[in-house]
Amino acid sequence: MRAVDVIIKKREKGELTREEIEFFIRGFVDGSIPDYQASAFAMAVLLNGMTPHETTDLTIAMAHSGQTLDLRDVVDIAVDKHSSGGVGDKTTLTVLPTVAACGLPVGKMSGRGLGFSGGTLDKLESIPGYRVDLTTDEFKRQLKEKGIVLTGQSLDLAPADGKLYALRDVTGTVPSIPLIASSIMCKKIAAGAHAILLDVKTGLGAFMETLDDARVLAKLMVDIGKLAGREVVALLSDMNQPLGCAVGNSLEVIEAIETLHGGGPVDFREHCLRVCAHMLVLGKRAKDLEEGRAMAEKAIADGSAFEKFRVLVQAQGGDVTYVDAASKFPRAKFIEEVKAHRSGSISQVHARSVGEASVVLGAGRAKKTDAVDHAVGIVVHKKVGDMVEKGEPLFTFHANDESKLAEARARVVAAYSFSDTPVPPLPLFYD
Ligand code: URA
Repeated sequence: MRAVDVIIKKREKGELTREEIEFFIRGFVDGSIPDYQASAFAMAVLLNGMTPHETTDLTIAMAHSGQTLDLRDVVDIAVDKHSSGGVGDKTTLTVLPTVAACGLPVGKMSGRGLGFSGGTLDKLESIPGYRVDLTTDEFKRQLKEKGIVLTGQSLDLAPADGKLYALRDVTGTVPSIPLIASSIMCKKIAAGAHAILLDVKTGLGAFMETLDDARVLAKLMVDIGKLAGREVVALLSDMNQPLGCAVGNSLEVIEAIETLHGGGPVDFREHCLRVCAHMLVLGKRAKDLEEGRAMAEKAIADGSAFEKFRVLVQAQGGDVTYVDAASKFPRAKFIEEVKAHRSGSISQVHARSVGEASVVLGAGRAKKTDAVDHAVGIVVHKKVGDMVEKGEPLFTFHANDESKLAEARARVVAAYSFSDTPVPPLPLFYD
């Protein structure tokens, strides 16, 4: 078999066999299929799609491209969560310690930023010393001893996805339903999750812009999970505007910590509580969503959720003094507040434009090898439905480079739309 023939078959809209998919993934991981062929393959899949059957085969091939974890000897039910990606989505940072504080051990492998969408690993690395490269043995030991792990995909777990994810980020091949579904589900399957909560984002700042596409992605992932014998619940949540206020790595860590302390933006807190409730039900710690939510609220109110975050950071080598005093995070050189040029009701805060502006500032990558600047980003002060008076602060930039600041400013100013008549707030969840 030749890689080029597999690419051509997909280019010509053919349906790949399991053998062809396994051959391609094996070759990509062992290096006999180079990045440029994998990029061409990803583009052919993006343009021509895959059947549910091919997507399942791709998921299983990627899940088995390295080791797979068996967590039965560590936890009774391994519950995992995954977001399909968005702007300002720091949910994992708040939700994981909260459910762990409720007695549900959680171990999660997260990813880096992808295009305009941020990544949990990049956020965590703004805490000096925090290790995101735990081995699978370290992962299991920490899960057993501390009840919480948040790390990167170890090289030996689903390595095919690790490689493909980085390529997709820089080859315009992210927004493909089969590639996203297989990328997310292979990691969950390889990491030994028994039950999985999927947070599928839809809207202007999501990879799935329409609710219909998000629903197709959600259903595909639920079906793949079920075929692999896992319990899966998918939520469809809004990503038309950034989630919460902070967009950018350390800014988002700070906001997640504020939320663990019982503060934080109202929409973000509410989003986290609902995700926690579902995870606690999936993990059989709560009998229903109401009880799960009450448990999560209590863990935040009594400080145990924040304490669990400290435990996590300490266990992974991070400097907890940053967690204790957010003022320790390095501040960007230029902090600029932009004020509303008119009064009115906010009708749009285009999430993708805000995400792209944060990448321009250096919070994300344009090339696979780019380093991210942890200090830069944007804090939005007004969200859809808010009334604003002319001259009130709309957003604040944190930038380290003045020329990038000018470009980012233009993008975020254009992201805001106003209406003369009141606009209802956006829903947090659609289904
Ligand atoms: N999250 C993932 O893990 N993979 C994708 O492709 C998109 C979001």
